[in-house]
Amino acid sequence: MAYKRDYYEILEIDRNANADEIKKAYRKLAQKYHPDKNRGDGDSEEKFKEINEAYSILCDEEKRAAYDRFGHEGVGAFASGGGGGFGFGDIFGDFFGDIFSQSNKKTKRKRGEDLRYGVRIKFEESLFGVSKQIKYNRYETCSTCGGTGAKKGTNRVTCPVCHGTGEIRQQQGFFSIARTCYKCGGEGEIIENPCPVCKGEGRVIKERKLDIKIPAGIDDGNRLKVSGEGSSGLFGGPNGDLYVDITVEPHALFKRQGSDIFISMPISFSQAALGSEIEVPTVDDGKSTIKITPGTQSGTQFTLKGKGAPKISGGQRGNQYINIVVETPTNLTQKQKKLFEELAAENKEETHPLKKSFLDKIKSII
Ligand SMILES: [Zn+2]
Ligand SMILES: [Zn+2]
Repeated sequence: MAYKRDYYEILEIDRNANADEIKKAYRKLAQKYHPDKNRGDGDSEEKFKEINEAYSILCDEEKRAAYDRFGHEGVGAFASGGGGGFGFGDIFGDFFGDIFSQSNKKTKRKRGEDLRYGVRIKFEESLFGVSKQIKYNRYETCSTCGGTGAKKGTNRVTCPVCHGTGEIRQQQGFFSIARTCYKCGGEGEIIENPCPVCKGEGRVIKERKLDIKIPAGIDDGNRLKVSGEGSSGLFGGPNGDLYVDITVEPHALFKRQGSDIFISMPISFSQAALGSEIEVPTVDDGKSTIKITPGTQSGTQFTLKGKGAPKISGGQRGNQYINIVVETPTNLTQKQKKLFEELAAENKEETHPLKKSFLDKIKSII
């Protein structure tokens, strides 16, 4: 199996590169190695494929996060659907296991697990931001033993089997084979008297309360990363991160697409025919007035500039679009029926130009 290069290395960018920098780097390299420019050059072709693969992962926020955490394996799992399925409040069943514990006897430090938490917010909250207090369980350093896992007053001692090296060497002919020490699991130290509180783990499960600020403009399906709020690390290792998955409740009137907001606005037959001024609800708990010109058709769209959703990145807000639905009257009274009949008798071709042009087209076909 060929060795897979690091995606950041392939795109020649920093691990902290932002979306723009990633895009720029990709464009530059993709142009350089494009098959059209390097016909018959197998190396360039390989390179071009590599660049595309790296970009397909790093340009996607979720895939990039998975790759950052677990490397190539993480993305493979992601692609095969290892991604989602976390309900509201579903937490702690989701430890990423031993991914960080690839034992390294030289550094016992282990990074804490990343955690995920689902938060449901109202449509309005997603537009203008909200603070939420969340409660979840995570591993925290055991305060009784200070994280050593050893009973108070005792210490971790050098492993008597491997004498602290973490491995056992065996001579086989010319070769010396090293195996991880069975007694200490490669750590080089053992606990003779485990801490009674954490049973030697060095960590205990505790409830954590945390106020999180959800920024204005966040959208359904977005994910927030709260650095360092995952589980505590082991032996001085850094904390994991907390990932907050946002679900936005649908609104009864407004629908959002990107930073634009849409609303369907029913108006009556006579309003459409005669023209009128109507009040339209907007998301900034106010109303805007729009002018319906005489002869407005169903499907006509009006725009309120800057009344859409804010963008997380800042800058101009999106627009609000009003889609007009002309409502055909129903449940007519006798009098209304009569008036409509009178109206129908008055109808001329010019009154319904659409209908006329349609009929003209039919005639031209036949
Ligand atoms: Zn303890
Ligand atoms: Zn040992």
